[in-house]
Amino acid sequence: MLSIVIPIYNEEGLIDDLVKRTVSALEAFTSDFEILFVDDGSEDKSLQYLLNWQKNYSNIKILSLSKNFGHQAAFTAGLEHASGEIIGMMDGDLQDPPELFQEMYRKIREENFDIISGKRSGRKGKNSRNFYTFLFHRLFKNVAVIQNMENTGNFSLMKREAMDALLRMKEKVRYLPGLRTYIGFKQGYVEYIREERMEGEPKMSLAKLFILAADAIFSFSRLPIRLTLTLGLIGTIVFMCAGIYVLIAKIFGFAISGWSSTLLSIYFLGSIQLVSLGIVGEYVYRIYKESQDRPLYFVQKFYKANDTI
Ligand code: UDP
Ligand code: MG
Repeated sequence: MLSIVIPIYNEEGLIDDLVKRTVSALEAFTSDFEILFVDDGSEDKSLQYLLNWQKNYSNIKILSLSKNFGHQAAFTAGLEHASGEIIGMMDGDLQDPPELFQEMYRKIREENFDIISGKRSGRKGKNSRNFYTFLFHRLFKNVAVIQNMENTGNFSLMKREAMDALLRMKEKVRYLPGLRTYIGFKQGYVEYIREERMEGEPKMSLAKLFILAADAIFSFSRLPIRLTLTLGLIGTIVFMCAGIYVLIAKIFGFAISGWSSTLLSIYFLGSIQLVSLGIVGEYVYRIYKESQDRPLYFVQKFYKANDTI
């Protein structure tokens, strides 16, 4: 069986199109599938709309979470409840074309890949959001300890064995595209152009997007903590040179009253220390999150087939 996991947060405006398009895209190549919608605590009518669709399609399942837990937690919840032998992930805003699952599925079945990710060869629309995503992927490619992640997102299809491996990583602060790349297995790609969101505003605010980028970088790169070390070392070298100059000036008697140099060095050292503390703080925060070990999400109800609220 094929399971497709789709997180939904306040998407009432496009649920009809989403269901229709996804169902017909999947029916084009298999009859044995489930679509598992994760309602991530929507405050609009998304859940009712989904339940209505479920009346007609018994292979629609809905996992309703007790509140909004965020995109990555919603995906995780869905993946943990999916029962397919091949499992897919797709955003609910039709930015990723469900029709592409056919090619992904073919590659897994016929070319024996374990994981196929959608690689964005381009993006429709020119907005600051796309620019930030571009910057993130550029930076991430250069600093991350994993390779070949560039320009893939959550959109993907994978075999059960690979999914089980992915789900064994229980970290709370998670960036699924990174984890998926990290686990190995035979990975392949299909290229596509990322559409603009079909309807409504993005449900990931820019702030959430930046936090996700930070999570990705902190979990897959040593750059931040290296940066503090480098800054510290640069500071030390600068002040060793300055120290030598000061001593020479003292010995040869041309030391001046030195107001600006004192202030500047205080500012410089102070800011290096603050930046370093901030970066260390990011690590402490993440360690704290992990050690609290709170569940990533709580389930309100799992509508497996033809339930009502
Ligand atoms: N989403 C979610 N929980 C959230 C935010 C978003 O389940 O807290 C869902 C949203 O409904 C959509 C998908 O995650 O189906 C991607 O969200 P969005 O399009 O806002 O993100 P972007 O495309 O900017 O990454
Ligand atoms: Mg989107």
